[in-house]
Amino acid sequence: MKHILMLATGGTIACRQTGHGLAPALTGEELLEFIPELKHICKVTVLNPMSVDSTDMTAEHRLRIARVIWDNRDGYDGFVITHGTDTLAYTAALFSHVLRAFGKPVILTGAQRPMGAEESDAEGNLLGAFRVACEDYPGVAAVVHGQVIRGTRIAKVDSRGISAFRSINAPADGIINNMGKVIINHRPERGGEPEFVENVDASVVLMKLTPDLDPTIIDFLGRYNKVIIEGFGSGGVPTRLEKVVQKLILSGTRVYLTTQCLSGGADLHKYKVGRRAEAMGAVCLGDRTTEDALAAVMCGEL
Ligand code: ASP
Repeated sequence: MKHILMLATGGTIACRQTGHGLAPALTGEELLEFIPELKHICKVTVLNPMSVDSTDMTAEHRLRIARVIWDNRDGYDGFVITHGTDTLAYTAALFSHVLRAFGKPVILTGAQRPMGAEESDAEGNLLGAFRVACEDYPGVAAVVHGQVIRGTRIAKVDSRGISAFRSINAPADGIINNMGKVIINHRPERGGEPEFVENVDASVVLMKLTPDLDPTIIDFLGRYNKVIIEGFGSGGVPTRLEKVVQKLILSGTRVYLTTQCLSGGADLHKYKVGRRAEAMGAVCLGDRTTEDALAAVMCGEL
């Protein structure tokens, strides 16, 4: 029987009503009491590294969890992390870059409704996550509403609905069918020696363009080494902001361009506004999700 390490970190899945709003309360052990059938699927060891609303998570929290996974790499067949759904995509993306070529399943899950609540998705998601963690899936993914979504492709697209996540610019890597059978169609490449990427620079700014953005804000960004500008459509810099963006690049800030569009990606070749941005030295982030782009930039890959 496979041995899985579960790391419970909080999120709605573990929430209870406090009278002042939902807050995480259940431990990993308590979550497991809701899925007794798990004992027929795998052996589980539980750790509770934190119990937070994922709104409060920073890179420091994420790296702390990643470090526990890394340190336990040889002791387990797979890993399940219960997590708040709001920033789950940031964690999944960062883990994908930090746990390089990890070679074992690292499966995040969460829920839109607390474990035990009426019509909760928590039980199905948690059980599904363990099922996938027992498969040959060498990398980071999230298991949510019957889908296995790669860590670099996942985005939360709905703040209320049960089907809150989508795989962006790629099909989901797999599904869990009604019988609970896991069907994996794509797997991350194994790609060389496993490595824990220690050097993560979280001081990256993501700035959303709006049609009337005050150019002096871009001047202010000169204090950061790396700035991602989320533009419109295929990407580019509005003509009226070109001078300040150029100044930013010449001052030594690395500027990356992405798009506000959820799918399709940025393509700076298509329009003149994009080509001019590229000629200035802006780096196109292509079809990466924002979360993946942020993680790749934080890890110094771009
Ligand atoms: N605010 C919660 C969190 O991200 C939402 C959730 O888990 O669904 O922790």
